[in-house]
Order: sequence, then structure tokens, then C-alpha cells
Amino acid sequence: MAIYDQHMHTYFSPDASETFENYLKQASGSIVTTEHLDFKDCFMGGQDTLLDYEKYSKTIDELNKQYTNRIRKGIEIGYTKESHQQIQDYLEGKEFDVQLLSVHQNGEYDFLQPIVKEKNVQDVMNEYFPLLLEAVESFPTANVLSHFDYGIRLFEVTVEELQEHQSILKKVLQAVIDKHMAFELNTRSMYQYGNVDLYEQMISWYLELGGHSFSLGSDAHSIAYYGFHFDDAIALLEKHGVSTVTVFEQQKPTQVSLKQFKENE
Ligand SMILES: [Zn+2]
Ligand SMILES: [Zn+2]
Repeated sequence: MAIYDQHMHTYFSPDASETFENYLKQASGSIVTTEHLDFKDCFMGGQDTLLDYEKYSKTIDELNKQYTNRIRKGIEIGYTKESHQQIQDYLEGKEFDVQLLSVHQNGEYDFLQPIVKEKNVQDVMNEYFPLLLEAVESFPTANVLSHFDYGIRLFEVTVEELQEHQSILKKVLQAVIDKHMAFELNTRSMYQYGNVDLYEQMISWYLELGGHSFSLGSDAHSIAYYGFHFDDAIALLEKHGVSTVTVFEQQKPTQVSLKQFKENE
């Protein structure tokens, strides 16, 4: 099995318009799309962003006949404490190959909204990281913890500033390990938002704690970002002695050798 991008969106997400066919053209093997589920979505004026599962499944089933079962189903769960039950009810009886767990908002605003920029970065970190811990602890059925730095994407945070929060961040990573989840290297966070050094610190802590399951995801909303900087993220993992990443099929993890990526390039 080859490595593939485990975080990307199509027109089934309200903030994307990309097609499955275009991703299939870019990729050589399997693909998965991870569409948004965000109750009381701040970017939608407080409306729920619900993936139309029936239409999504039908579209994929039809395309899979043409494209030799290359497409897997995924969802990106935007967690809030208030929506916990609604998320569970939504997921009931639906099948996904991979479930990403994300914290995008605090019930009041999304962490990418301009209001966040006016805040003190320490205050934002003091708020955001406990929300992440709460998400992992209360939603352990998800497979991947996505973009741990989403809450601080709008800030320039140094490694030293991040280290001041190491106690809570190590708890988050320990919870990822305990719940058998994978830790996502979000390559747009790393190489577009410039947080690669923060990810490197997290990789070190995660490995120290005994973590070994990494997921590679670009968070592409169009093919321009498919597999964004995967070669750099893989080189970073190899530098830390990591030799595999994890992909999920029917929510079951498989370790794929990083060497596979180079062979497929
Ligand atoms: Zn996200
Ligand atoms: Zn996403």
C-alpha cells in the first residue's frame, strides 16, 4: 500500500469546490476525502455544516466502479463539547474509513476568524489546548487528531512560547497514544502557516512519550495543495527516526513505510 494524503476536501465541504476526479488524476493510488462536520459552524453564520452522507456515499460508490475502488470515505469532525451528542447521533450507522478529530471553534468564534488576532496569543493557547485535550478525551472513537495548532494559525508562535504549554500539550499527546489515535502532520499548517518548528517540537514530545502513529494530511481544499510538501514532512519524520505513517481503512490502521512514498514519486 502506498502513502496518500489523509486530509482533504471536495465540494462536499462548504469551503471547497474541488472534484474527486481531479484528486484521482493527481494521485497514483487510493485517495480519501475528509469532509466537514461542524455543528453551529461560525463560518456559516451559526448554521450546522452537515455532510450529505447519502449523496457522498452514492457519489463515491459510483466513481469507485469507474476507478477500481480507489476512493475511501472520510469525515473531519469539528468537536465542541456542546455538539458532542449531535456528532454521535450523526455518526450512528454511517461508515467512514477515517475520522479526523478537529477543534475549530469555542462555541463563540472559529479560531481563524479575525477577532482571534486581536487577542493575546498566550490567552488563546490557554484556551485552545485544553479544548483539544477535552476533544481527544471525550471523542476517542476518532482516528486522527488533526492540526493541533489550528487555534494559533493566525499567530507567529515560537518554540519557546509553545514550550511554556508543554504540560497540557503532553497530556494531549498522551491521550492520543492512550486512545490509539494518530497524530496528524498538517502540512499546510507546517509549510503555509509556517508552524513546522512547532510540529517538530510536538514530534519530539510524542516520540518521547512512546507515540509512533503519524498521519500525513495537507488539508487541501483544491488539488493545488494535494500532498503539499509531503517530501519535506517525510524528511522531518525520517530525521526523527520514524519509518512509517498510518493510514486507515474502515477505521483500521495500517503502517505504511515512508520508503513507499519515494518509490511512487
Ligand atoms: Zn480543520
Ligand atoms: Zn480540513
